[in-house]
Amino acid sequence: MTRRSNARFWDPAGRRFGIPTWPWRMAPGHLATRRQLAAAGLRPGGQPVAGQVLRHRPRGLLVAYLYDVAFAKPKRVPTTAQLAALDRALAARRTCPRCRTDVGYVLPRRVGACLDCAEPWELEAA
Ligand SMILES: [Zn+2]
Repeated sequence: MTRRSNARFWDPAGRRFGIPTWPWRMAPGHLATRRQLAAAGLRPGGQPVAGQVLRHRPRGLLVAYLYDVAFAKPKRVPTTAQLAALDRALAARRTCPRCRTDVGYVLPRRVGACLDCAEPWELEAA
């Protein structure tokens, strides 16, 4: 198998590809892939795609979209308060309103009670 050239992916103005395009690893330094941003503790932050890098792979092409580092935002790290709120929300979904016990599993939504409290006909209907 011959190694195909990636040179035809060189299109910084996006004339051929529609958006600015570079061969893999050849993008200018102010653009980064989502993965590269994540490694730096950043996320695209809702900005539009600024370009792409392409490379050949055995079947077809591998594409990674690029984002402008200048518009990237810090990755959201949940605060302990948010984690606690999430925990409470999950606990509420595990707590049976009839026996008021956290049964350890999320209650079946259509039954609205734990499997011990639910009447057989309720379980059949759900
Ligand atoms: Zn119960």
